[in-house]
Amino acid sequence: MTTTVAAPEDLNLHHIVKQQFDRAVPFADDLHGWRGIAEWLFEPECILEVTMPVRLDDGFVHMFRGYRVLHSSIRGPGKGGIRFHPDAGVDEVKALATWMSWKCALVDVPFGGAKGGVVCDPHLRSAGEQERITRRFTAALGDNIGPHTDIPAPDLYTNAQTMAWIYDTYSMMHPGEANLPVVTGKPVEIGGLAARDGATAQGAFYVTEHFLELGGLPGIETVDGVTVAIQGFGNAGRHAAHLFHEAGAIIVGVSDSKGGIYDPAGLDVGAVARFKDQHGTVVGYPGADTLPPTGVLEVECQILVPAAIENQITSNNADRIRAMVIVEAANGPVTPAADDMLAERGVKVIPDILANAGGVVVSYFEWAQNIENQQWETHDVLEKLRKKMRRATEVVVTRRAALVESIDTYRERWAEAMPDAPPIPLPDLRTAAQVVAIQRCRTAALHRGVWP
Ligand code: GLU
Repeated sequence: MTTTVAAPEDLNLHHIVKQQFDRAVPFADDLHGWRGIAEWLFEPECILEVTMPVRLDDGFVHMFRGYRVLHSSIRGPGKGGIRFHPDAGVDEVKALATWMSWKCALVDVPFGGAKGGVVCDPHLRSAGEQERITRRFTAALGDNIGPHTDIPAPDLYTNAQTMAWIYDTYSMMHPGEANLPVVTGKPVEIGGLAARDGATAQGAFYVTEHFLELGGLPGIETVDGVTVAIQGFGNAGRHAAHLFHEAGAIIVGVSDSKGGIYDPAGLDVGAVARFKDQHGTVVGYPGADTLPPTGVLEVECQILVPAAIENQITSNNADRIRAMVIVEAANGPVTPAADDMLAERGVKVIPDILANAGGVVVSYFEWAQNIENQQWETHDVLEKLRKKMRRATEVVVTRRAALVESIDTYRERWAEAMPDAPPIPLPDLRTAAQVVAIQRCRTAALHRGVWP
């Protein structure tokens, strides 16, 4: 007897980004005009890899490795966070930089996409070591970053303090210049915005709210009373839990890297946050069931918010997801194979480039404020963020409906252009969002032209 074993899913993030891109291309206007342009839009412009000696607290010197990828400057200077993570690698950073290009285009902020990563485990590094790593990395990047070239921001395990060190180091290297806009997500005391810390979650909340108003989940018009599970209790997950809770949602489950907790009657988010601050994890919170780290993804809920890291919902667990809507507050939590399995079961995925774009939108406001030497009020920033997120949500929902309506035309056109290619599937929200973003990048590229 022979048994067939399914090939394991390819979880290389850069391959995933390419698959997503390839799904969007058949829906582009003017297919013929895409020859060569698709490659231009997809390939990263600049990939930088640096090694850095840093003295550790024990006196030893350790070599750290870091990356900065500028994916595209077609729509403006590069923009994107820097993460500290033991698994950071060039393909991951390339993928994240590419998503930043699409994200900035989709929410229409005047930036291209970039991303950085330093291979290190921040849990094992003291504050002093993190400071020395950050400063050395900033020096190594040199003029590859700058207020008008590439502007970093926080990402996984970096924060306002990290951004303050980047700003300070860059300023030491460029004395006498107006350096505040070189980095966003800074402390409020040095040109940051109070709203930046919670902006990713706030954006995800505004998007979800508007998605429901637009009929995304038939029969449910507001988040009030909706059951929500959240994976991740870092910056995005923790703020999301508070925001959904304050709006009347029932937070049935949350998790962090150590595990999850579940209570179908709803968790007291404030008490969970205090417990996390005291114990370093949500696990052990009294009165709730304990779950393994990815268990929270599979609990009974209406809205699931993956707010941790990439590749969390894959072909391995997609059929066990019980939510009706997934809001990607993290970058890349759902793989293409999982997208297909979820679509088949009618589960809607609000894609990362829309759902988590609130961070970069508020970064844009911070950058603009710094360029003008202005100070903006938090309520004005939040109102501007709300408008941008609602607008982008409408654009994606409307574009998806239009693509679905004309699917026969797109299929015929694609079959003619690519007779050997498989037929194109019905577009989901991710593909619609990518179509909007990629077309905006393409239009900008064509306006600028190919130099020389
Ligand atoms: N790291 C965040 C992201 O993935 C924010 C980037 C930024 O503010 O530039 O969107």
